[in-house]
Amino acid sequence: MTPRYKRVLLKLSGEALMGDQTMGISPDVLQYVAEEIESICRMGVQLAVVVGGGNIFRGVAASSYGMDRTSADHMGMLATVINSIALQDAIEKRGIATRVQSAIEVHAVAEPYILRKALRHLEKGRVVIFAAGTGNPYFTTDTAAVLRAEEIHAELLLKATKVNGLYDSDPVKNSGARFIKQITYMDVIKRQLAVMDATAITLAMDNHLPLVVFSMRDKGNARRIICGEDLGTYIGD
Ligand code: UDP
Repeated sequence: MTPRYKRVLLKLSGEALMGDQTMGISPDVLQYVAEEIESICRMGVQLAVVVGGGNIFRGVAASSYGMDRTSADHMGMLATVINSIALQDAIEKRGIATRVQSAIEVHAVAEPYILRKALRHLEKGRVVIFAAGTGNPYFTTDTAAVLRAEEIHAELLLKATKVNGLYDSDPVKNSGARFIKQITYMDVIKRQLAVMDATAITLAMDNHLPLVVFSMRDKGNARRIICGEDLGTYIGD
């Protein structure tokens, strides 16, 4: 298969690493995700990854119990550093070089986020994992994914979800939910579809960054989309 895109950013939620557990990281899922990432890299695609932290800590949830939102979000961002290191380890076990770059400086465990260095790593075929979101509270890792994708001039942002794309309502709760094959950024915002927060969608819209929402659960899906197969939901202008 020949890739259609040269540089792609993959966004994984923290929950994607959880598997059937109620929190934390499932070793089997981690291994599976690393294999999927390896298969993308072996095609010569430059891949950056942003991983969330919801499997460990979520700022909004903690602040609803009385914690100051900024403190809670700092914890959430550190949770993404934990996931990034786990992912790095699993990917490197498969013989693919990686670098973790963190938006919050954690010198002993990750490089600081430096765009030019990140670009150099990508050019050398290393997977760059962007940790700690945007480095700012009140943001999400979806927004961080869009921001980093734009900074590195990724041609596509792949957003992995539990289901095979975007629906007009939650397909887990509503069996009548209808699948949406293609949609504009503006319609996602107007219809308040819960695929990404409005900040992330708006940032993608302003910069015309194509998004594909897909399920990582079916093996090879990410690779197939990168090779031009029409899977998942396309969000664009
Ligand atoms: N977070 C933040 N700023 C960012 C990105 C993330 O403060 O730029 C915090 C926030 O508390 C969030 C947590 O990190 O709840 C984990 O990120 P997110 O909820 O986006 O993870 P996901 O839902 O993708 O697992």
